[in-house]
Amino acid sequence: MAGSLEAAGVLHAFTTRGGGVSAAPFETLNLGRGAGDDPAAVRENRARALAAVGRDISDQVEVSQVHGREVAVVTAAHRGQKIQGADGLTSRDPAAVLAMHSADCAPVLMVDPVKRAVAAVHAGWRGTAVGAAAAAIRAMGEAFGSRPEDLVAAIGPAIGPCCYEVGVEVVEALAPWPWHAAVLRPSSKGRWLLDLWEANRCQIEAAGVPPWAIATAGLCTACHPVLFFSHRRSGRTGRMAALIAAPDRRDSLPPAE
Ligand SMILES: [Zn+2]
Repeated sequence: MAGSLEAAGVLHAFTTRGGGVSAAPFETLNLGRGAGDDPAAVRENRARALAAVGRDISDQVEVSQVHGREVAVVTAAHRGQKIQGADGLTSRDPAAVLAMHSADCAPVLMVDPVKRAVAAVHAGWRGTAVGAAAAAIRAMGEAFGSRPEDLVAAIGPAIGPCCYEVGVEVVEALAPWPWHAAVLRPSSKGRWLLDLWEANRCQIEAAGVPPWAIATAGLCTACHPVLFFSHRRSGRTGRMAALIAAPDRRDSLPPAE
């Protein structure tokens, strides 16, 4: 799905739940450490996921993911670390592999082929409401001079508008965004269905990224139990990862204009 990122020639991946060693209810490629899985299994799974993109587990940088909009700027010096209090990472250092973990929340990956910078964002409804993806676009601008019109973005597998029923608190939190009516529709008695994919797509477009440069996987984590973990569907479960690293000078990139 991330054809736009592939065209940009950047190392990236959205994992599924297949190919790991964890036992139920984390079977099998659980990459999250917070839900109670065997740490040795998670470590082996992470090593496999990083190896699948040609990198080592020690290259990974992750965040604590607190449903906010803080974005940390990282370099090779942060490899192996978990940065507290953030839901986004941005980097121009090819040595660092940025990792976001999710099991329904939207993972967003972005690249600036001009400045050779990347970002990874974790956005559930709270993160979307506080503008996590937009904050990452601003952070790329502040840290690297990235222009929104140069960015390429991909929104990975997340719970879809088919399954993501939410309450009035979510409607109220999203109400300040001009696109909120386009991403919510009434379902049953005081509940709404939220299109988290479209909410993030709208937010990224409104921040200045061209619509043709934003790809959406359109894959619902709750609808695909063989492919994905889903917290909403399963409760105690594993986490997928979205991975991305800044391109180095050897990687093929479209010429900067
Ligand atoms: Zn669904």
